[in-house]
Amino acid sequence: MNLDPRPHPVRKTKIVATIGPASAGEEVLAGLLAAGLDVARLNYSHGDHASHRAIVERLRALAGSQGRQIAILQDLAGPKIRLGTLPQPRLLAAGQEVALAPGSQAPGQALPVDYPYLLEDVKAGQAILLADGLVELEVLAVAHGQVRCRVKVGGQVSSRKGVNLPASHLRVGSFTPKDQEDLEAGLAAGVDLVALSFVRHERDLEPVRERLNHADNPPLLVAKIEKPQAVERLPQLLAAVDGVMVARGDLGVEMPLEQVPLIQKRIIAEARRAGKVVVTATQMLRSMLDNPRPTRAEAADVANAVLDGTDAVMLSDETAVGRYPVESVAMMDRLCRASEGQVNSEALLKQDLSPLLPAVAAALSRAAGWLAKDLRPAAIVASTTSGSTARLVARFRLDTPVVGLTPDASTCRQLAISWGVEPALVAPFGDIEEMAQRARQWVLARGLAKAGEHIILTGGVPVGTPGTTNLLKVLEL
Ligand code: ATP
Ligand code: MG
Ligand code: MG
Repeated sequence: MNLDPRPHPVRKTKIVATIGPASAGEEVLAGLLAAGLDVARLNYSHGDHASHRAIVERLRALAGSQGRQIAILQDLAGPKIRLGTLPQPRLLAAGQEVALAPGSQAPGQALPVDYPYLLEDVKAGQAILLADGLVELEVLAVAHGQVRCRVKVGGQVSSRKGVNLPASHLRVGSFTPKDQEDLEAGLAAGVDLVALSFVRHERDLEPVRERLNHADNPPLLVAKIEKPQAVERLPQLLAAVDGVMVARGDLGVEMPLEQVPLIQKRIIAEARRAGKVVVTATQMLRSMLDNPRPTRAEAADVANAVLDGTDAVMLSDETAVGRYPVESVAMMDRLCRASEGQVNSEALLKQDLSPLLPAVAAALSRAAGWLAKDLRPAAIVASTTSGSTARLVARFRLDTPVVGLTPDASTCRQLAISWGVEPALVAPFGDIEEMAQRARQWVLARGLAKAGEHIILTGGVPVGTPGTTNLLKVLEL
């Protein structure tokens, strides 16, 4: 292993950060962008449409003024059960009894649980987990409109924290009526990616895909992998989405925790091989909620996700409600840069082509990768209408910078989440000559290449027809 202490000049692993009360203001948002945020995640389980919309507008203005291409990811709650509103955070101590009651507000000392079938769906002896598994309860009895529980593992809970009933079979569809309303609001605000929570089957994604197909600038569709059923159906889910998120918070509650690290590796490997975007999420720098520096274990976790080949690493509470949102992004930036040069792109180039990929485009992008190994060009320029050509090249995690050249503003922002891709928005072009000219101009202006150096150009002709990657050229500048 080459332990070169000099970091890569441009970070390749992308950073997703959740925007919440600690980061929604102009100043912190500007700080997050300057520190390296590539994708802003808005969690529609929290906050309201007006506040999310205001954040989108603020982000677009800041990205414009900083000359950055950033994507906005809308995270739809899905059928996630949550606590209702608590007047203040509650500390639950191991051994004490606590009652749960269905509803968004509960009478007396009971904790409200926003799930109408709570009383029917839990039984004595079962476990109930709160706040991503931080607190564990055991059901003692269901009576008088309440679920009486004993606290097995204590901790603090607050409004809208998650509730998991791992032993119960839930009776809610994946794309809920609230998700439907939230999706309309997200589309109106112009989000670039949409993630759906608690997907169990590719069928769960159909209504969302259907709606996205009719949008003006269809966002990319991401499935959050956080149920055992989703892990089992990973190949089918990958065929139905543009990306996946390893949602370790709920995954670690819904499945044995000790399985999560290897499941993460498998999801990242399969998604990457299929040219799908993959995000690794939850607790990556969790101790930075209250501390300016992470633990050594957290630093190792980020490095491991990078070595696994994730496109992006994600911050949740750290940037949404933590004390050090900007420092968390800056720390991610350092951690990613230090490890990403060690990804073995040659091994990835040698892998068999995934059957999920379009054969010609997949083979051509691999040829571009091998050309880059031999020629060491200044950049691979992937000209793309939908973004897919650039994502296909990105899947090899090459040292060579990949420029995602597109005249489409929405596609360009979406490329902000792909590993090693520099999004390049250029004026429309009509033929190969113009395409090559845009590519030359962009890499020279950006300082990626100098006169006399080579670049590799790949894309599709006729220009502007999505899904026609059929061109591979070496240009001398
Ligand atoms: P998920 O399972 O989708 O990750 P979550 O509840 O874990 O849901 P995160 O997005 O991971 O939510 O954020 C962590 C915490 O930050 C939330 O539990 C919530 O307390 C807080 N938070 C996030 N976004 C907001 C927001 N827009 N408004 C208020 N609080 C927020
Ligand atoms: Mg979370
Ligand atoms: Mg979750």
